[in-house]
Amino acid sequence: MAESMKGLRRSHRCTELSNRNIGETVTVMGWVQKSRNKGGIIFVDLRDRSGILQIIFEESDVGSEGFEKAEHIRSEYVIAVVGKVEARSGAVNKDLKTGDIEIRANELRILSEADTPPFPVEEDSKTKEDLRLKYRYLDLRRPDLQRNLMLRSKVANITRSFLTEEGFLEIETPMLTKSTPEGARDYLVPSRVHPGNFYALPQSPQLFKQLLMCAGYDRYFQLAKCFRDEDLRADRQPEFTQIDMELSFVDVDDVIDVNERLLQKMFKESIGIDIELPIQRMTYAEAMDRFGSDKPDIRFGLELVNVSEQVKDCGFGVFTSALEKGGSVRGINAEGQAAMPRKKIDALIDYVKDFGAKGLAYLAINEDGSYKSSFAKFMTEDQLDGLVKAMNGKAGDLLFFAADEDEIVFAVLGNLRLELARNLELLDKDDYKFLWVTEFPLLEYSEEDKRFVAKHHPFTMPMDEDLHLLDTDPGKVRAKAYDIVLNGTEIGGGSVRIYQSEIQEKMFEVLGFTKEAAYERFGFLLNAFKLGVPPHAGLAYGLDRLIMLMAKEDSIRDVIAFPKVKDASCLMTEAPNTVDDKQLKELGIEVKKR
Ligand code: ASP
Repeated sequence: MAESMKGLRRSHRCTELSNRNIGETVTVMGWVQKSRNKGGIIFVDLRDRSGILQIIFEESDVGSEGFEKAEHIRSEYVIAVVGKVEARSGAVNKDLKTGDIEIRANELRILSEADTPPFPVEEDSKTKEDLRLKYRYLDLRRPDLQRNLMLRSKVANITRSFLTEEGFLEIETPMLTKSTPEGARDYLVPSRVHPGNFYALPQSPQLFKQLLMCAGYDRYFQLAKCFRDEDLRADRQPEFTQIDMELSFVDVDDVIDVNERLLQKMFKESIGIDIELPIQRMTYAEAMDRFGSDKPDIRFGLELVNVSEQVKDCGFGVFTSALEKGGSVRGINAEGQAAMPRKKIDALIDYVKDFGAKGLAYLAINEDGSYKSSFAKFMTEDQLDGLVKAMNGKAGDLLFFAADEDEIVFAVLGNLRLELARNLELLDKDDYKFLWVTEFPLLEYSEEDKRFVAKHHPFTMPMDEDLHLLDTDPGKVRAKAYDIVLNGTEIGGGSVRIYQSEIQEKMFEVLGFTKEAAYERFGFLLNAFKLGVPPHAGLAYGLDRLIMLMAKEDSIRDVIAFPKVKDASCLMTEAPNTVDDKQLKELGIEVKKR
């Protein structure tokens, strides 16, 4: 039976008590982690979001009625206890913050009972995620998830206070907005008042934050919910949160400067990590060349080496034909791995096939300096020596090579590099390595659409020195765009924006929009640009991913209170769901029977 808490007031959270409170009478409330009846004495571990506290019940303190109630307590009951803080009578528990104290109860109220929970509430749960997500409110009681959400709250707070101090204004932008065709698929919301018309949920506040700059707000930020109806991927959420910002009268360096200081404060104050400023910067071209990735993990080496020059005249057709087709031959030196068993090498070759590799050539340098290789017979001794030298190979090393068009070589070796690092356990989660990647290509050619699409988004400014290429060689234009990368994960990105309507119109033209189509979609922005627009730039972080890395979790679901699963459904509420015919009728929507 549920009792009232009338007359009681919680005085402390469980772990707000310590041996300094010994002798005090306190009132604590929370969930029963476990209870043990040792005959005449009952021990209860009481849990709240701060941690665990031991309560002991004895009839002489709590009375016969109270003791009887205590005998009924089960896991996940919610109770209130009034009692005296004492030094622990039994052994001190070093694993608990409150391991040297206990509360001797003299009053107990059972505020609510609980059925037997479908799984135990415990750190590092072994319970299958689907079941945990169905009972997310129970799952969220687990200390690891509570820590993650507390960390998330802390980071949000630090962000707000830092940016406010830097003169940013927190401004909300609409959730019901207009569908824009560039980028991912929109989530649509039907309008009842305008049957047949739809709002879109924002993929990001991009256009609105630019309009706020046009409106003179200077420095804006928002912890913004964003929605993208993307294809199913394990670690994607249809709705996610950005730390979004935009600044006026700035260029690349200004955005980078304020964000480096934000990151420094955020990491120091939330997880005690020092970030040394300035953060290293690398152009996109260099990142691809050295790491085969635009978000390189720089915690370890295994860099790519271009050996096209060394192999151009060799007799190995795989190499030379890739070069003849305009591609390249590049390698990675897995130092000290010459003895890698054939099986493991084959597994790596198999792994990179997913990234377009037709194969992977390799060469092991034996301890005696001789070579064991998949292609040695096609090359002269000199050619092999030259290749090994270019790769900085020494006895005991294992060299891998990929030959293809650049794009494939980068994808293959970039991913091989990561797979090697995982296998060789080179990835230290306690090591936080930040990197700015700059000068991204403005455009990328879409084979599917047979046209250029914006690599970042259509409002990104070309680099001044490349502007003239917009007409002649758009694929070569670099952008004033930057990503902030942490341990091989892009945690944020942004750009300086186009603020001249001529350039913006030109950009739409390159993207294949007629002027009419551009105005139809983005007229409000293009018109705003004609009424006084300041130069502006911005950036957005993916907050979920950022917290995931800070919390050293492997899944963003572990840092989101109520996440969705891979097929974009919520296992707890069972959304999405069908709706009443009446609702559909009001919206003028008819659903086709499948
Ligand atoms: N709106 C961009 C994004 O969501 C970020 C930015 O350019 O500020 O990626």
